[in-house]
Amino acid sequence: MFIAHAPSGYLLAQAIIKKCPNIGVSTKAILWVGIIGAIFPDIDMLYFYLIDHRQHHHHTYLTHWPISWLVLLVLALLLSRWAASKNLAKLLGIFAVAGFLHLMLDTLVGDVWWFAPWVDQSYRLFTVEALYKPWWLSFFLHWSFGVELLICLAAAYVYLQNRMRDFDLEQGGGR
Ligand SMILES: [Zn+2]
Repeated sequence: MFIAHAPSGYLLAQAIIKKCPNIGVSTKAILWVGIIGAIFPDIDMLYFYLIDHRQHHHHTYLTHWPISWLVLLVLALLLSRWAASKNLAKLLGIFAVAGFLHLMLDTLVGDVWWFAPWVDQSYRLFTVEALYKPWWLSFFLHWSFGVELLICLAAAYVYLQNRMRDFDLEQGGGR
């Protein structure tokens, strides 16, 4: 997945805001954590280029292991039980879910090692044939890129809807 991770995090955050209006954490914080969590696994590209020198697929790193995000989620649940301040636990939970969402979206046409580190086997739902050069052109011309565009459009729609609602509220409040 190329362009839809940040918009998917935005949609996730908006869904949480809508479903849990009394969550007690600021809307802004939920949005930031949702978006950052949804792109965070790809931070391993830095390691891939700068340290590993492209020796291994970056999806084989810890940041792209589903178990890493599940462990974070469990940590968040434990924190929410025992920590004095629950807000950190809630944000950590949102971060973990957003990271997990990233891996689910990556699996559409990308390899994800779902049972790493125990099973060295990658899984993907669909395969993009290498029909064009350079390699990324095959991805951009594949139907799955339409899914990415749809996610982006949905995020833009929800964003505009919220902006218009805020604008209406401001206008209403100013009267
Ligand atoms: Zn990724």
